[in-house]
Amino acid sequence: MDRWFDVHAFPVGSGTPRLVAVLFTDVSAYRRAAIATQESEERLNQALAAGNGIGTWDWDIPNDRVKANERFSRLYGVPEELGRKGAPLERFFGGIHPDDLPATRAAIADALETGGDFSAEYRLVQPGGAIRWVAAQGRCRLASDGTPLRFPGVSFDITERKQADLRQSALLQLSDAIRDLTDPDEIAYAASAILGAALQVSRVGYGVIDKTRETIRVERDWNAPGIVTLAGTLKFRDYGSYIEDLKAGRTVAIADVAHDPRTADLADALRGISAASFVNMPLVEQDNFVALIYANHAAPRVWSDDDQLLMREVAERVRAATERLRAEGARRASEEQFRVFAEAVPNQIWAARPDGYLYWFNQQVYAYNGLAPGELDGVEVWGGLLHPDDVALAAERWSTSLATGAPYSVEFRVRAADGEYRWFLVRAEPVRGDDGTILRWVGTNTDIDDSRRQTAQLAQWNETLEEQVAERTRELMQAEEALRQSQKMEAVGQLTGGIAHDFNNLLTGITGSLELLGIRIAQGRLNDVERYSLAAQGAAKRAAALTHRLLAFSRRQTLDPKPTDVNRLVGGIEDMVRRTVGPEVEVEVVASVGLWATLVDPHQLENALLNLCINARDAMPGGGRLTIETANRWIDARTARERELDAGQYVSLCVSDTGTGMTPEVIAKAFDPFFTTKPLGLGTGLGLSMIYGFARQSGGHVRIYSEVGEGTNVCIYLPRHFGEAEDTETVTEHTEAPRANAGETVLVVDDEPTVRMLVMEVLEELGYAAIEAADGASGLKLLQSDIRIDLLVTDVGLPGGMNGRQMADAARVGRPDLKILFITGYAENAVVGNGHLDPGMHVMTKPFAMEALATRIKDLIVAG
Ligand code: ADP
Ligand code: MG
Repeated sequence: MDRWFDVHAFPVGSGTPRLVAVLFTDVSAYRRAAIATQESEERLNQALAAGNGIGTWDWDIPNDRVKANERFSRLYGVPEELGRKGAPLERFFGGIHPDDLPATRAAIADALETGGDFSAEYRLVQPGGAIRWVAAQGRCRLASDGTPLRFPGVSFDITERKQADLRQSALLQLSDAIRDLTDPDEIAYAASAILGAALQVSRVGYGVIDKTRETIRVERDWNAPGIVTLAGTLKFRDYGSYIEDLKAGRTVAIADVAHDPRTADLADALRGISAASFVNMPLVEQDNFVALIYANHAAPRVWSDDDQLLMREVAERVRAATERLRAEGARRASEEQFRVFAEAVPNQIWAARPDGYLYWFNQQVYAYNGLAPGELDGVEVWGGLLHPDDVALAAERWSTSLATGAPYSVEFRVRAADGEYRWFLVRAEPVRGDDGTILRWVGTNTDIDDSRRQTAQLAQWNETLEEQVAERTRELMQAEEALRQSQKMEAVGQLTGGIAHDFNNLLTGITGSLELLGIRIAQGRLNDVERYSLAAQGAAKRAAALTHRLLAFSRRQTLDPKPTDVNRLVGGIEDMVRRTVGPEVEVEVVASVGLWATLVDPHQLENALLNLCINARDAMPGGGRLTIETANRWIDARTARERELDAGQYVSLCVSDTGTGMTPEVIAKAFDPFFTTKPLGLGTGLGLSMIYGFARQSGGHVRIYSEVGEGTNVCIYLPRHFGEAEDTETVTEHTEAPRANAGETVLVVDDEPTVRMLVMEVLEELGYAAIEAADGASGLKLLQSDIRIDLLVTDVGLPGGMNGRQMADAARVGRPDLKILFITGYAENAVVGNGHLDPGMHVMTKPFAMEALATRIKDLIVAG
């Protein structure tokens, strides 16, 4: 390292040669310090210049001379030359903003007094009107006696920082100002005012752009004192061509309209609206230039990036605030819309706070509960309306939903204004904000009482379905029965007409024969008597057969059931069957061994068997095989129920053929009276219906099994009789009636004199003593006397308040063994016990052959 020396030579003594002493003083350190000082001064100036430094000053206080560098002097409005030589302090104060001067003076005075540090910030007003902020720092040096000597210092241009601070505070101010504003125009105005103050410009405002028309519409702008508002609609083209930039989304910042090519031609117009310089900043929404924020200044002005940044930030904030307002408005509108909707729907709708507090209900809720709006707010009142049994579940689910945010769904009963509870499906969903937090709950109550009831009913229906079906079937069936009944009535009407016609013919035959008989007897021409008598009898028999059929079909025939061996009965008429069906049909009889006896009217069973065989023959016009079969049968409870029988033991008599068979439709109707598929005159349709009526009346049943083309099997089931079968009485040609033993007496009671007379004559002819009575009372009188009476023959229907059965029962009190024969028509069937008569009581159905009566009477007296 180089070293610096201060070389100093000086003579030593007085001798010659003169002694010279040379003193080398190492001044390296000093030298370096000096250089450093010089360098540091230079660096300071460089640093000041670079860091917006203004410059240095040095104030010689006793002489009041401030020496300053060029820049400093210029900024403070002091001629540079004067500044270099030194000028009085006051001279520099002229550049300081009047508002800041008092504080600056005070700070200087303070430093002078204490000899301490000086620090001040103040504005300097530039010749163009521009403001610059300055921070000045210095120190006052005092003499040893305390008087101020010098006051050197430096100044910095802090305009940038100050503006940044201003922008910052402007933005804060803006936030405060618009926080509570609800009108977008007010917000825009407040922002304009703040921006105007911060930028220190003449005018700030917002305008809505019409891109097609190239106009701007300003509602209200902020104007500095003395500046006229721009409110209204302005055409961009009146002020230049910069609209092209705006349309492209570019900010237009013009420092001096006179010098910008976009505005130079119309600079006067711009200056006329206090816009010698301006910033127009487009606001873009969804890629669309819709609005503009502008700052105008009456004088030319350079727009810094910071200025534009501040404008941009303010615009952003205004946009955000307006957006918030719009969202708020939209929310309010949607809330309003929600309420309108909620009132319009038939459901009950309500809203609750996130903590579960119910704060809103629609009209439907109040109408249902009978409460006034507001009375339901909270949780308690509502809870009190729930059915006590449902409260726990509803509350539990509600707290779960409130805790988890899961949708609420529950069914419970709510009390209506009339005190009745109805079921509701209650559902609620949380309404969430943008950040996901629950803002409120909205719920609906849907009345599901009816559907719940229906469901319950349905369940019950399902449970009792079988019962229901049975019930319905019984009802469907009843209707069908009614229909059938009416069809029967119609058929009966037709038949009655036919029978009346037949009967008249038969009666004509009878009465005519009897008339001729009387004439021939009177004439003594007895040869012809037998012919007429036979004709009369024939007609009467046919009439009797006709009435019999009708009685059988009505199931009101008077049956005379006897314990019967069906095998023997079949054997008895086998020949007759063969004769009836003819040689083309092969007849086979399969008689079951050990067949049980049955209690049945044997004559009717023969009749039924004969009818079945005739049907079989008719079904086999080309011949075939007919089988008559008997069997013992067990009918179990289920089958019995199906066939409306008592369960137990039965005897079956079946007739099967290899004939045409029957379709299911024909089977279904075969038992209907008058149903026939045979040509007119060949079928009566009464055969199977008679058989059915007879079998049912006998405690049994008839079944048809048939396949079309295969053949038919018809079975009569008759209940088993526990006891010995009697000999089957067969219809015999009675030629000689048995005669009575001496003294045997028969009492005849009948209100019909003809019948009485005939019966009396028959009895007397047979040698019986016969006495007669015309009604029950006189009959009973005789019976209660001690006259010998071996047999009572009585009609059932008698005048005088006592029927034949009652008379017989009364008579048996005194004569327990009295034998009784009822002669009756169908109507009295029930009176004589529906075929179940006491021992010693018998029945004969009118009409009957007199020989048959005689035989019966003889049998009864002898059998006794
Ligand atoms: P009718 O014999 O007078 O027609 P029924 O009551 O005896 O009346 O029979 C009714 C109907 O049942 C008959 O017309 C016939 O169609 C049918 N039917 C009865 N028995 C048989 C049978 N063995 N084979 C085929 N069809 C029969
Ligand atoms: Mg028939």
